[in-house]
Amino acid sequence: MTILSSREFTCIQGGDQNKTELCTKLLDPTKGQGCRYFNEKTRTRISTNWALHGLGINGPWDIEDLVKVGKQEAACPYFAARDLMMEAEIIFCPYNYLVDRNIRESMQINLQGDIVILDEAHNIEEMSRDVGSLYFRVDKILEVIAESKLLCIRRKEDNATYKIIQTYLENLVEFIQVNNLNTVDKFSETCSSDFWTGVQLCELFNIHSLGKGTAKTFEKAASEAIMDFNKAKEEMSRNQDIEPFPVITPLTKRFLEDFTLALQVMASEKLANDYRACIVEAYVKDFSQGYAEKRLRTLQMLCMNPAVIFAPLANAARSVVLASGTLSPTSSFQSELGTAFPHKLDANHVVPKENVYIRGIGCGPTGVQLKANYANVNSLSFQDELGRLVLDVCKVVPHGILCFFSSYSMMQKQIDRWKLNSTWARLEGMKHVLQEPRGSSNLEPVMQKYREIIKSTSEGPQDGITGALLLAVFRGKVAEGIDFSDNEARCVMAVGIPYAVRKDPSVDTKFTYNDMNQLKGLLKGGEWYAVQAFRALNQALGRCVRHRNDWGAVLLIDQRFTEKSSYNYLPKWVKTMWRDSARYNLTWELEQFVARHVERTKNEKSDSVDQKVLAP
Ligand code: SF4
Repeated sequence: MTILSSREFTCIQGGDQNKTELCTKLLDPTKGQGCRYFNEKTRTRISTNWALHGLGINGPWDIEDLVKVGKQEAACPYFAARDLMMEAEIIFCPYNYLVDRNIRESMQINLQGDIVILDEAHNIEEMSRDVGSLYFRVDKILEVIAESKLLCIRRKEDNATYKIIQTYLENLVEFIQVNNLNTVDKFSETCSSDFWTGVQLCELFNIHSLGKGTAKTFEKAASEAIMDFNKAKEEMSRNQDIEPFPVITPLTKRFLEDFTLALQVMASEKLANDYRACIVEAYVKDFSQGYAEKRLRTLQMLCMNPAVIFAPLANAARSVVLASGTLSPTSSFQSELGTAFPHKLDANHVVPKENVYIRGIGCGPTGVQLKANYANVNSLSFQDELGRLVLDVCKVVPHGILCFFSSYSMMQKQIDRWKLNSTWARLEGMKHVLQEPRGSSNLEPVMQKYREIIKSTSEGPQDGITGALLLAVFRGKVAEGIDFSDNEARCVMAVGIPYAVRKDPSVDTKFTYNDMNQLKGLLKGGEWYAVQAFRALNQALGRCVRHRNDWGAVLLIDQRFTEKSSYNYLPKWVKTMWRDSARYNLTWELEQFVARHVERTKNEKSDSVDQKVLAP
């Protein structure tokens, strides 16, 4: 076996720099620096099963084990894990290593005849589209221009290639900067141009001296620069004592490969229809400035059809298994991925029906209808009624409660209102209230606090506080990446159906693309749109009951959940446990449900203590 992972986890060089950048720099053949943990002498120390066996690793191992022996033997674990692929029958890796053709090739992963199991595959469509899309940030293009200028000076005798690259990219930057952009929607700071088909972008390129003729010359120059780089790399690996020849850096090589690919996609009759191009201006991470954010423009070539990426992978493999606790609705996988999935297993939940309370809630405690569409969530009557409902639930459900909203702005609107009336103060009298922050890097302290409160209130309330309420968003880290078991989530409240912003150009374009490509067997735009929303909802619902003895309540708050059209999109486990009585008293039912399970848990605990006492 082997485990492939990023250098961030397996590089044993010290310091806190980005390990991928550090490694690329050290191993750049044109610089000739090298890494002391990766050379002919050290390479074989931990890179075979035999070698690992000799170092005490006899069975399945984890990344930490490999890093430990790597440090001990002064041998690079990152490259050892790759070398171990030669002997491996099972390879574990993040699934973008398989889906992304660039990573697949650089890792030398050959899927021919293999069985591929993609776990947590609910995002595979999105991920395939993302991998197939190409992004060209203005700051990165400027770096390539600066490098080309430098090479023009350093290679005075044969600088025509770099002059062509420099001029073409300068025109490209001008094209990106002069286009008029519009704000995506009134809550967003992002601006976008129109979305263009390949043909339309070619026409615009013609106007800006980037058209067919110059593009061909650029492609030729890019290919020469890449060949120069490869030649220098080969020479350096043969003889490390020679003076490095001035060529492009690996990052520029990658840029030139990607941009050449973008030009080819645009010119290709077969692929151009599967892509849409646009220019977006937004705040992005600036890795050169310690991850600060800066506002800049990006030329995006967005892949509309995930099958472009996924189908070749599926064709190469012997079989592909998509697995996830929250795959449903499954209707889009076959059409979107261009792959037939003849066998489907929709298993029952491991948790018995009596351990879960699930209900769709169309009205609040005073009978106000709760339909969380855009118009309603801004109304005071909705906000106040939702506040009353959350208060009622917090009153009767102890320990942790998760409450999901469609977006940060919607969540903030409710909070602002609850702070103005007495709702927020009353919530804080019962629960420690926390909010999921924007940006996953700020989540850790929030989660730490949440878990502390849950732990400290596990045996009973502390100063009247019975647990914590975490307000979060669908599609966020809390909804999709964190495990909440037992007291950490005794109730999940899902407010509304998390439809993506319909007017967002990237959503709108995909919607229209699907409608226009019905002959490919794609779902209609509206159906695709609903499937994506319910898959995000199902992810959040899945936070609640995590193992066989777990118990909890799941409340789907929106009048639309009580309608057949929405109910049909819910996963099987939710439907089989659904309580559909029209007349009910929510707080009374929840109280009974909680009391039953608190009692059961208490009995199970005392039984296990008795058994321990009786054990010989
Ligand atoms: S060769 Fe290995 S140890 Fe050296 S920099 Fe690269 S990843 Fe790190």
